[in-house]
Amino acid sequence: MDVEQKSRFTVTPSSKAVAADARAVLLEDPGFGRLFTDHMVTIRYTEGQGWHSHSVGPREPFQLDPACAVLHYAQEIFEGMKAYRLADGSVAMFRPEENARRFAESAERMAMPAIPEDMFLEAVEQLVKIDADWIPSGEGSLYLRPFLFASEAFLGVRPSNEYIFCVIASPAGAYFKGGKKAVTLWVSEHYTRAARGGTGAAKCGGNYAASLVAQKEAIKHGCDQVVFLDAAENKWVEELGGMNVFFVMDDGSIVTPPLTGTILPGITRNSIISLARAKGHEVREEPYSFAQWRADAASGKLREAFACGTAAVVTAIGTVKSTDGDFTVGNGDGGLVTESLRAELTGIQRGSVADPAGWVRTL
Ligand SMILES: *Cc1c(COP(=O)(O)O)cnc(C)c1O
Repeated sequence: MDVEQKSRFTVTPSSKAVAADARAVLLEDPGFGRLFTDHMVTIRYTEGQGWHSHSVGPREPFQLDPACAVLHYAQEIFEGMKAYRLADGSVAMFRPEENARRFAESAERMAMPAIPEDMFLEAVEQLVKIDADWIPSGEGSLYLRPFLFASEAFLGVRPSNEYIFCVIASPAGAYFKGGKKAVTLWVSEHYTRAARGGTGAAKCGGNYAASLVAQKEAIKHGCDQVVFLDAAENKWVEELGGMNVFFVMDDGSIVTPPLTGTILPGITRNSIISLARAKGHEVREEPYSFAQWRADAASGKLREAFACGTAAVVTAIGTVKSTDGDFTVGNGDGGLVTESLRAELTGIQRGSVADPAGWVRTL
């Protein structure tokens, strides 16, 4: 089956690939999400025909009809994952099967065709292989962005009959400016991210579009990121615009909001829960209110808080600002539990720490 599928991809190397010396200069400080590799993978979907036209080719703009459905009704989903260069020179990815599964779940929620998980993995691996020279060494990684969008030209509210699946790649250094430093959060009072029955658990572009005004508010108040509360009661902590949150208590137990359909089921979140439990921490997936957060930070019951996701991995939460005033978690700069979980997770991802659960997939 695998062999048959590989033969479906037409591979056309780019004739305008960046030269090795120029690439080396770019990779000295790649930043995040602003540099791109030479190639892209595309697969088309047509209702009645299924997935077709599998291609690995030069990275280039799409030509889209002005009536292209995604431009009007935002039928679009994406994933975020990373490829790493291990010490022995081999290339690895972290739990990519989970991204494939979540992509299929997001597709279902957005009334889109689910790409078979093995086809998703094959597409990602094809791109990593052809652009392997773009994987930064050291702390960097190659950020992979698979996405699927409605490409049929029509105006009307129904699922599209045509889609384009694409994977692009971007060499990455640190996600937040200032590297591992603790982030400052703004609690959004006016805006929510997701409501019951909505799309909060799907990784769709629309969720991000709706979060930008709140993120803008956060920046205006001198914060790095926004933290959202639940839509029904405006009381319970949900997550950041693109990261899940954890709270470390003075008795060593850890709390994280439960997956009730309004927050994104992060693969980093899931991995952190496993790692923390293996280290002997009690981890509770239970609602945690913003009022409790403030009270626990003040009393010292809350020792550490951190956010996690593929892009920034694990980032300490320092200060939290809101219209009711500011407070600081612990010493405002993370702590030992946050740091040890971050070190263990990144160690597993990069092959320097044993991988007991078979999370690392080498190419
Ligand atoms: C992608 C994402 C996360 C983190 O998920 P990971 O699988 O850990 O990268 C968290 N929240 C939102 C809203 C996201 O889009």
